[in-house]
Amino acid sequence: MSDQLHTLLAAFNGERLLADLDALGAIGLEPGAGLQRMAYSAADMMARRWVLTQMQALGLDASIDAAGNVIGYLPGREPLPALALGSHTDSVPGGGKYDGALGVLGALACVRTLQAQGATLRHPLLVLNFAAEEATTAASPTGSLAFIGKLTRSLLDGPAWNSRTTAELLADAGFDIDAMLALRPPLPIAAFLELHIEQGEHLATANIPIGVVEGIVGIRRYYVTFVGQANHAGTTGMARRRDALVMAAPFITTVRDVAVTHGIVGTVGRVEVQPGAPNVIPGRVLLDVELRGMDVAVLAAAEAALEADATARGGRFVRGHSMLPVPADPNLMAAIARACMTLNLPSLTLPSGAGHDAMNLAEICPYAMIFVPSQGGVSHAPEEFTAAEDCITGARVLLATLLELDAM
Ligand SMILES: [Zn+2]
Repeated sequence: MSDQLHTLLAAFNGERLLADLDALGAIGLEPGAGLQRMAYSAADMMARRWVLTQMQALGLDASIDAAGNVIGYLPGREPLPALALGSHTDSVPGGGKYDGALGVLGALACVRTLQAQGATLRHPLLVLNFAAEEATTAASPTGSLAFIGKLTRSLLDGPAWNSRTTAELLADAGFDIDAMLALRPPLPIAAFLELHIEQGEHLATANIPIGVVEGIVGIRRYYVTFVGQANHAGTTGMARRRDALVMAAPFITTVRDVAVTHGIVGTVGRVEVQPGAPNVIPGRVLLDVELRGMDVAVLAAAEAALEADATARGGRFVRGHSMLPVPADPNLMAAIARACMTLNLPSLTLPSGAGHDAMNLAEICPYAMIFVPSQGGVSHAPEEFTAAEDCITGARVLLATLLELDAM
């Protein structure tokens, strides 16, 4: 370990990071109902102003941009593109205090450590607290999309959590949508690092403190329809029935089996039975199906298996929206792995099953993510929990990785 890293890690104030998590986690917390800090709500904006104050207290040149992103800037010693750290501070309805917040407060803990030692970086540093990451608006992750200059007006026509359009939600919160659409990255960025809770059970089950994210999984959605014949549930004998739900049932377990066989995840998240009455044999069943995985070829093979099974059972298989996997940058992943080795920490390489701001940043710069364990794999719930030690370890790995990148 370099002398500088040794000195910085010795100065790292883990207690302060935990106190910050508690303080930010109290904003918008409703007893019994978890964190209610939905995008652009009063509580969300209060949390953003709190983060702004923290950045200013650290001496960062900090402001809130036209999309509600809180951006802190620390000059570097050399005229290089910036390194960027960050995540988000909005929550789902009934969220926990770690999702997003850890990545923002972990970044601030890195800056605090540098400042405490009078250390500077070669690269300028951006600390980014993105707005509206959670899918509480149709345009999510909205803040990071605006930040990279890719937000469009039509996305804002979609609904937001308060059942108004996202554009109306923004107008109510005092935002200037034209200014938001005109946003561009404030300066060239060499790399983006996001520290985040895993939100899955892999690290906790393996008892490994750090996950090196290989990428954000691709998503494929399908709409599968089975058509039978609706008829009287009392007078139609079992031999004469064409029950669409009975046709669909084995396909539902096929989705599970195909996912297991291909080492990915697959879900039938919605089943609509028509006409949907206890005394009517189902005439039509509509299924919403989703596959998620890191490897496009594996997803394609799983998709072919699902289509063949659905068709063989008389179903109609229609492809819906799909999103490509967003691989993390191998050099940045290697830098995280080196940081873990320096700190003597075991790590695991794993995909992210959830979307993150990093997938937007990937459009303008290389990115990587550091995961820490989620107890029981629970998130987006008041029970969301990451041990204090794991939060601190994650932020220390973020700092060590930042120094690795600064030397690159
Ligand atoms: Zn998150």
